[in-house]
Amino acid sequence: MANVLVTGGAGYIGSHACKALKSAGFTPVTFDNLCTGWKDAVKFGPFEQGDLLDRARLDGVFAKYSPVAVMHFAALSQVGESMQKPGKYWHNNVTGSLNLIEATIAAGVKQFVFSSTCATYGDQDNVVLDENSLQHPINAYGASKRAIEDMLKDFQASDGLEHVIFRYFNVAGADPDAEVGEFHQPETHLIPLILDAIDEKRDALTIFGTDYDTPDGTCIRDYVHVCDLVDAHVLGVKWLQSNKGSRIFNLGTGSGFSVRDVVNQAHHVTNKPVPIVEGDRRPGDCTKLVSGSTRAEQELGWTPTRSNMKQMILDAWRWHNAEKYSE
Ligand code: UDP
Repeated sequence: MANVLVTGGAGYIGSHACKALKSAGFTPVTFDNLCTGWKDAVKFGPFEQGDLLDRARLDGVFAKYSPVAVMHFAALSQVGESMQKPGKYWHNNVTGSLNLIEATIAAGVKQFVFSSTCATYGDQDNVVLDENSLQHPINAYGASKRAIEDMLKDFQASDGLEHVIFRYFNVAGADPDAEVGEFHQPETHLIPLILDAIDEKRDALTIFGTDYDTPDGTCIRDYVHVCDLVDAHVLGVKWLQSNKGSRIFNLGTGSGFSVRDVVNQAHHVTNKPVPIVEGDRRPGDCTKLVSGSTRAEQELGWTPTRSNMKQMILDAWRWHNAEKYSE
């Protein structure tokens, strides 16, 4: 079976990608420094602990496994933290990715799938966000990801590094078998925080801002199920294997949900009240991020099957109640 090097394979999205790759007949090789990931989440292929900033370690892993492609998930990804500690984001995400890209090219690998974000678009009122939209990130997380996109374009031109860039909207849900799921410490993402509040693991969910220019005053996001998202990544590898060249795809559903919509749906799905507190805006948050593109469906043949809010909360709730990783 062909090896695919998966950086960040011990994290939320990377672990689901490893499961999807294995089901598709690849061997996922996880490279992860475990700064936010979990060793217990590496269930579908070999594990190599290492840091993207350690070039010699990366070269060793390429030599050991001869991967046919790289899927690059490893990154710091909290919007709020990126505003407080931008240096951490630029160093880890951008320098780490440069190291990885150079190691990939040195190993003669030409296929690279990159996990980017709708945060590269920034706040754009009344604009349909498709892959040709201007990119004006308003937080250091989005800016770091845009820089890596630029880097890939340059290395495609200089070294023929063919790449698929996925710009994710908000990823949610969990593996329906609850083998892997979302588990951050501390948790910062909306749906797991709502489930913690429902379960009295925290006092309440704080809604970050109720004075946005949206129908109910709270931010609007486009949520996509993690299993659908990683299916697109497997299609991305196949796209590159069939020599279709470098391409950018949004991964979202085109439907926007406000923070209050998500709270109401969680109440409905779990049949339990959600304690909430109305708080201040979180620096770096965009008012509305909703994908306006169907390119992934049309060109990649991506067909999301679980990305409705009810299913995403149900799957997250099942995972919430399952046994989590201990190391
Ligand atoms: N949010 C919130 N309270 C929280 C965490 C998140 O109101 O405790 C909001 C946040 O402001 C954003 C949405 O929920 O509008 C999604 O945030 P998340 O951190 O899950 O993902 P992001 O959009 O930052 O990638």
